[in-house]
Amino acid sequence: MQFNQNYLRLQESYLFSDIAHRVQKFAQAHPDAKILRMGIGDVTLPLAPAVVSAMRAAVEEQGRAQTFRGYGPEQGYDFLREAIRGYYARRGISLAADEIFVSDGAKSDLGNILDIFDVCNTVLIPDPVYPVYVDTNVMAGRKIVFADAVRANGFLPMPDEKTDADIIYICSPNNPTGAAYTKAQLQAWVDYANARGAVILYDAAYERFVTEEGCARSIFEAEGAEECAIEFCSFSKTAGFTGTRCGYTVVPQALKRNGISCNKLWLRRQTTKFNGVAYIVQRGAAAVFGEEGERQIEENLAVYRRNAARIAACLDRLGVFYTGGKNSPYLWLECPGFADSRKFFDYLLEKAAVVGTPGSGFGKNGEGYFRLTAFASEEATAEAAERMERLLG
Ligand code: PLP
Repeated sequence: MQFNQNYLRLQESYLFSDIAHRVQKFAQAHPDAKILRMGIGDVTLPLAPAVVSAMRAAVEEQGRAQTFRGYGPEQGYDFLREAIRGYYARRGISLAADEIFVSDGAKSDLGNILDIFDVCNTVLIPDPVYPVYVDTNVMAGRKIVFADAVRANGFLPMPDEKTDADIIYICSPNNPTGAAYTKAQLQAWVDYANARGAVILYDAAYERFVTEEGCARSIFEAEGAEECAIEFCSFSKTAGFTGTRCGYTVVPQALKRNGISCNKLWLRRQTTKFNGVAYIVQRGAAAVFGEEGERQIEENLAVYRRNAARIAACLDRLGVFYTGGKNSPYLWLECPGFADSRKFFDYLLEKAAVVGTPGSGFGKNGEGYFRLTAFASEEATAEAAERMERLLG
């Protein structure tokens, strides 16, 4: 018996456990300090009332013999897939219901999708980025090459003809940098992928945060994307589902390689290894697309946008370089006066009791940068901005 040796090649997430440890130590040493947590990627506002009431009604249905439902379709109920189809249609993107797969969140699908790709493929991953892409490929033993996301390219790497890749990850708006591709930039990636027969894995977990004209919210805004791209979406950050768990993945029927349908393989994978998302949760998710639900989640998003604007204004006044905040709940700043992002983390914690995330946790290009999030309460965000201004001004 042998364990999967690739797991031994994973980098221990020292940074994130180390951060938690340091915050805990600080809290113990300063029991009266009000620690402001601006580092977490979790939401704080509750579910929208329309979602709660849809879920309540679904609980009632599950409690009555006449309306009880057992196993549902692995790909998701028609009512939710239709609602998602409508959401895309309103943005001018035409999908068929069987191209939409409902899941318990983007993270699972981003990891699970790798089941259908050979281990001999080379993957291209931006650096810095959400660490799940790297770790899931290390687990499988796939070769990884990196696309540098740096200040010079606005943290938005573009295709490089010299790089050979079979699977390309794009995260837009990006975690952690907050940078979002325009439709024209995505078109270049789609053309590059189609020319090489590569597949793009497009993570749109933050698409609803996009506000700037010209920035894309879906890879399917680019022509020909249905022949090369899979899109991952989530209700987590846009509708507060981080603890409720629901997402969806779009696998176009037109995406084929060597005559093999990607949609067919993913359907086979899901029907074999996945038994669907709870009916109650899917009813809640469908309510997000109703008139009331849309309005209510937009109200919540407006709070996070105000928070982002408040942090951005503080950084502007301090003259600190940053990106993000406009199309994203993340602000990505150059550590003022520090080359080492962990040292800046310590400084901010010790002197202002404000917690952020050192950029080095997201890849080598993240060193020297720092991620702040807009997900804290408005009060905590205002106070954190004040404290940072006092400390760094
Ligand atoms: N994709 C990105 C870029 C994320 O930042 C996150 C969560 O932080 C996820 C996916 C995970 O989303 P979910 O909660 O749907 O699993």
